[in-house]
Amino acid sequence: MSKSFETKVVHSSLKQDADKINSKATPIYQTSAYTFENLEDLEGYFEGKAPYLYTRNGNPNTDELGHAVAQLEGAPTGMASSSGMSAILCGILAAVGHGEHIVAAEDTYGGTYQLLTQELKTFGIEVTLASFDNLEEVEGAIQDNTKLLYSESVTNPFLRVENIKALVDMAERYQLKTMIDNTFATPYLLHPYEEGVDLVVHSATKYIGGHSDVSAGVLVGTEELIEKARGKMVALGANLSPFEAWLGQRGLKTLALRMKQQSENADYVAESLRNHTDIKHVYYPAYVSEKGNGAIITIELNERCDMDRFYKFLGWIKIVPSLAGVETTVSYPKGTSHRALTEEQREKIGINERVVRISIGIEGAKDILTQLGEAIEESMNEA
Ligand code: PLP
Repeated sequence: MSKSFETKVVHSSLKQDADKINSKATPIYQTSAYTFENLEDLEGYFEGKAPYLYTRNGNPNTDELGHAVAQLEGAPTGMASSSGMSAILCGILAAVGHGEHIVAAEDTYGGTYQLLTQELKTFGIEVTLASFDNLEEVEGAIQDNTKLLYSESVTNPFLRVENIKALVDMAERYQLKTMIDNTFATPYLLHPYEEGVDLVVHSATKYIGGHSDVSAGVLVGTEELIEKARGKMVALGANLSPFEAWLGQRGLKTLALRMKQQSENADYVAESLRNHTDIKHVYYPAYVSEKGNGAIITIELNERCDMDRFYKFLGWIKIVPSLAGVETTVSYPKGTSHRALTEEQREKIGINERVVRISIGIEGAKDILTQLGEAIEESMNEA
């Protein structure tokens, strides 16, 4: 029977099959659902015989990203979700239930801080924040119902390097799970899972994507916890779109090159800024890994600097409330990443209007230093 144009046009797309087409790049499976030939095949999905049913439950592109990061982290499995925040939430909900308790670092990313101190209450989860560079304080915060220790491998924005081994040892003694946000270090520098951490999370919006064109999260860990976390992601509708997963996966391929160059540039810029008379403090880790110390530098400018002029004279360095692209950018933690905190909370962790977080890019290191130097100099001049 010859079909009408109306039928043919609707059925005109090529059925993608990567194995037969031999496409070098993974195709983008931009589909919201999958087809089945008959009810037996449909039932086969629920018996584990067919991989996909509905994109909210799973998609080849999102699986590819989750598994790629898991491999790089040395973890058995992983999943990708709609953002770093949803990956954090799904990970926490996999490890902690209603009526249970988390001990978390007080100096995490502002969005995480808000999730921990505000949103988790609505799930009946209690959180105690502690200064994680004081292990006695962490241990003192553990309660009978504590299930999880939560921190960042390198903290945002002051770049404190977490003592992961000590946390894992403590968690073993108290039979707790551990979860580490490895966004700033990336698996290029650190592998918390290999040190015994149960769940490792990334804002893939940052170095994994690497080009400031993706919002995504990745969570890796034990089979058991990731299966639970995936269930939460499906139930909450926190899945990642296939196209963004594809972009994240494409970006991931150059992670090592980018991190190498960005870390080297950051080392050079941080060392040079340390002697600057108008900078009160340079925060840059002394040691993260043998491969480098990461690509974020946080500075606190002197009281006499005019901060409006500093931001105004940054030239090609843009103000961006994010980090980790290939371009050098700066952010204003007080007004963006840590905006949701109260003045008192910000003061406790040291965030004021003179704190600037610099995400070092892949440009020439001397150019980055010159442009930052010009902005600092202008900040000292009268308007
Ligand atoms: N973790 C860290 C360390 C971050 O810096 C951010 C965002 O800035 C997040 C998590 C949240 O990630 P996303 O914005 O992808 O939800």
